[in-house]
Amino acid sequence: MTQTRPRPAPLGALPLPGPGECWSLFLDFDGTLAELAETPDGVRVDPGLPATLEALHRAFGGALAVVSGRSIAQLDDLLAPARLPAAGMHGLERRSAKGARGPGEGFVRALDPLRAALAPMVEDDPRLLVEDKGPSIVLHYRRAPEREEECRRVMARLLEGEPALARFRLVLGKRMVEAVPSGSDKGAAILDFMRERPFAGRRPVFAGDDLTDEDGFDVVAKLSGLGIKVGEGESRAPYRAASVDELIAWLHRLTRCPPMTRSGGLPH
Ligand SMILES: [Mg+2]
Repeated sequence: MTQTRPRPAPLGALPLPGPGECWSLFLDFDGTLAELAETPDGVRVDPGLPATLEALHRAFGGALAVVSGRSIAQLDDLLAPARLPAAGMHGLERRSAKGARGPGEGFVRALDPLRAALAPMVEDDPRLLVEDKGPSIVLHYRRAPEREEECRRVMARLLEGEPALARFRLVLGKRMVEAVPSGSDKGAAILDFMRERPFAGRRPVFAGDDLTDEDGFDVVAKLSGLGIKVGEGESRAPYRAASVDELIAWLHRLTRCPPMTRSGGLPH
């Protein structure tokens, strides 16, 4: 079924949060907070941006996170001295509001059916070994090389047969087969944050520019939040900033909103 979607409305049409309304803010980096460059290293950050983000982070009671395909280490370098909650590598790594580093729990939890399915197999043949890396799982068969084909087949079948595992792909290694997250899922990263304070219970707002950000737009829409598409191109986000500059000017305006230091605005 084809449905015509209305074009995203201009960002100026989005009312800023009023007193008592609490938002969680999620921001992509490349193409959203900084113009895309020829090479990833060539990106130029507006000198005032780190201070703006720090001010917003305070105004939002800590509920602001950068959600990017870059690593958290790169984001820290680019946004120094700001050090914000962040999801790096499309959610494969995450730094919570408390500063705790860890893998994206969305991926860790999504692998539960694979954990459950592999457990009896390893119990039956102790030569097999499951290595649980959190957001990925390896099945080693070094001590049972004759079972290679079978191990690969079983893993492939499990990934295909379980909807929760659709976000994973197989990597074939030396005497091992590994299920790793495939591609990006910024939506899962945003969900991870939304389960925690101070993000939980607020209205999530996510700004991004790329196809990989559409997952994030879908997730915030499900949580009664909204997406902001930056730049040209079709999008499922309801609002659009015409450029990086327009988004940054809007972020500046947001810093002057009433402080959002407690959860509210949405039922828990
Ligand atoms: Mg981007």
